[in-house]
Amino acid sequence: MNTIDNLTNLKGKKVLVRVDFNVPLKGSEVRDDNRVVQALPTIKKLLSEGARLVLMSHLGKIKWGKVDDEEIAKEKAKNNMEYVLPVLQKHLEGVNVYFSPETSGEALAEHVNALKDGEVLLVQNTRYEKGESKNNPDLAKDWAKNVDVFVMDAFGSAHRAHASTYGVPEVLKAEGKPVALGYLMEKEVKNLGACVKGDTHPYVAILAGLKVSDKIKVIDSLLNKCDHILIGGAMAYTFYKALGLPTANCIVEDDQLDYAKKCYESGKIVLPCDSVAADSLDNPTKIVTIPSDVTKGGEGFPEGTLGLDIGPESVKLFENYIKSAKLIFWNGPVGVFEKDEFAAGTKAICKAITENKDAFTVIGGGDSAAAAKQFGYADKFSHVSTGGGASLEMIENDGHLPGIDIIG
Ligand code: ADP
Ligand code: MG
Repeated sequence: MNTIDNLTNLKGKKVLVRVDFNVPLKGSEVRDDNRVVQALPTIKKLLSEGARLVLMSHLGKIKWGKVDDEEIAKEKAKNNMEYVLPVLQKHLEGVNVYFSPETSGEALAEHVNALKDGEVLLVQNTRYEKGESKNNPDLAKDWAKNVDVFVMDAFGSAHRAHASTYGVPEVLKAEGKPVALGYLMEKEVKNLGACVKGDTHPYVAILAGLKVSDKIKVIDSLLNKCDHILIGGAMAYTFYKALGLPTANCIVEDDQLDYAKKCYESGKIVLPCDSVAADSLDNPTKIVTIPSDVTKGGEGFPEGTLGLDIGPESVKLFENYIKSAKLIFWNGPVGVFEKDEFAAGTKAICKAITENKDAFTVIGGGDSAAAAKQFGYADKFSHVSTGGGASLEMIENDGHLPGIDIIG
């Protein structure tokens, strides 16, 4: 792997590090600084070599669409990278960390050129530039001309060929300048690599969460690699309906029924055999556990109810697969874990996975990682990926992502 350990003579060099500081915000407050913490090994290594660091990342989404200037200003204010600055400064005590409110042009160049060895410049949200997500070549050139070296350490954005993840290294490479992967990228590629290769068996995947359609490609790919795929979350109800079980008010994707049926016919899909159902998600007044075993002609969901978690029998069923696995990939909470009433399934899955000490266990999914953290299991997994979409795409594409491939 082409990592920063291969870079030499970094003293005085201007190094653009594409980090993933796309942190969850509550107003102006950073709710979870994990992504900043995960970038520190690379940042500290480069600083210790006397480099001058320019850190760039996107933060949230800016909806450009047909909105007027005022609306865009609001979007920008919501996703202001300056909110991350004090967090970064706290973690880099003793280092001068500056902020550039400008995202391109002469003003940005001036900030970069003012840096001294061992100093850091955090640049405003890359998505303040409309050309970022379009990989605009002029924008990539503008960013590339400020620096001598490019380091990719934003795993969470590595599945996107944007100006800051793809355009810049492309320009620098063409000029014969060095590009490399940071330590976080190295760790992600190595650990997720086990799930990509899938040569350890039994290999069990737990796929859940909201939508089948989000995860179609990864299901396809995992059907080729895994021994069993345990399905939970709202996704399960699309499978139920496809197999003829009444689903009442459950979230179902009707355009995915044929696909779900086809997947089920592989014989590798394990569906929950009971479900926790309620009359409403927001104001549940009646919560019941119902049998929903499609193999035994389960009765399905009573009228007026919707499924919100897997039931206790499903937990036992899933535990059996999890216990004997040697490799486990988990994406998607099996219930609405954000609500106490519907968190038991997800909690039990976390517990079961982390109790299997013989398995290599990986979480690839933003909400699943948040759930594991909330329930106190996050540090018991072999690897918790910092990228949800990126980890799924990496499995789908047999280890290839634009942001990795361009570094070479
Ligand atoms: P990840 O981010 O780990 O990939 P997803 O984004 O696919 O996971 O799904 C997470 C969401 O799925 C959570 O907000 C959770 O509340 C929701 N969810 C899980 N089970 C259900 C269900 N039965 N009904 C509705 N929503 C569900
Ligand atoms: Mg999610």
